[in-house]
Amino acid sequence: MTPEQLARLPGVLFEIGKVVGSDHEPGQTLARISELICELTDADACSVMLLDGDKKRLLAKAAYGLRAERIHRLSFAVGEGVAGWVAARGEPVLIDDVTDDPRFVVLEKARTPIVSMVCVPIEARGERVGVMTATSGTRACFAAHHVELLRFIARTIALDVENLRLHKVAVTDPLTGAYNREFLQQRLPAEIARAVAAEAPLAVAMIDVDHFKDVNDRFGHDVGDDVLAEVAARLKAAIRGDDLLVRYGGEEFLTVLPRADAGRAWEVAERMRARLGRQPVALPSGPLAIAVSIGVAQLRTVVGVVETSAELIRRADAALYTAKAKGRNRVEVAP
Ligand code: GH3
Ligand code: MG
Ligand code: MG
Repeated sequence: MTPEQLARLPGVLFEIGKVVGSDHEPGQTLARISELICELTDADACSVMLLDGDKKRLLAKAAYGLRAERIHRLSFAVGEGVAGWVAARGEPVLIDDVTDDPRFVVLEKARTPIVSMVCVPIEARGERVGVMTATSGTRACFAAHHVELLRFIARTIALDVENLRLHKVAVTDPLTGAYNREFLQQRLPAEIARAVAAEAPLAVAMIDVDHFKDVNDRFGHDVGDDVLAEVAARLKAAIRGDDLLVRYGGEEFLTVLPRADAGRAWEVAERMRARLGRQPVALPSGPLAIAVSIGVAQLRTVVGVVETSAELIRRADAALYTAKAKGRNRVEVAP
């Protein structure tokens, strides 16, 4: 370690401890860990890749020093490339110059070239769950003690990685990838409390697909499922990063919009409605036009008492009912 790296070590380890104990989003935690590893080792980039469900492929979950679009494409089969080798063998790898190592594969021309690298396995409860890689454009940027350091960090984050993976499974609706209703029940009261404390507005929008029963009747339940997944994807594309999309019921979705007042929520709802209606959903049998009705409600306080999450949802639901009654494919705001 250089004297500079050694001087940074205690601070970086303290930061890693803080991040590991926090309740950040899984991706955020791993991205921050990646950043800290770069800071500690003078690496140009660091990535965390996790094995998918059947443990045949590594998929990048977070990285630092890589462009966002590259992170999503970063993937190796187990056994392929240095990362795949580490995932298959469970042993760390230290390479001073990748041109001398047959395991290294060039995926695509990188903006920052890779010359030296270190890659270590991540194991949780005795099972391999992924790998962590640091790379540099400088020859022999890493030494054996960097490997040990990365192994230590991998061990520190392993349980979090696995717990976060399990948590994600528990709060996600498998068909649409939206949050499930159990998650809403625990999260919405917390969001309301946060809004009240910050004296910020908060709104929800209840979304129901129009005449969805006809879709099932005409094309069958499986096609109906595909349509619901597409509806969720379009709704997701219309909201911001910290807005939440929840599958509330069969073909009903709810979005939680922190910091949005009724006017802003109306805009978001209109954008969702437009995004849904603009383009028909492509089905094997041909294009199918889809429309949604939306009811919006802003969190309100009546004689000093903030309404409950149940009341807020009930008012959004009532506004949705009005939208249906007024002819569907429209947005109504609760009074
Ligand atoms: P509208 O909302 O415009 O009043 O009409 P609708 O036909 O959408 O209303 P309704 O609530 O009566 O019907 C909802 C339908 O959604 C009925 C149900 O079979 C279908 N549905 C609910 N959950 C699922 C699901 O997970 N998959 C599929 N394919 N269909 C579902
Ligand atoms: Mg319905
Ligand atoms: Mg419906």
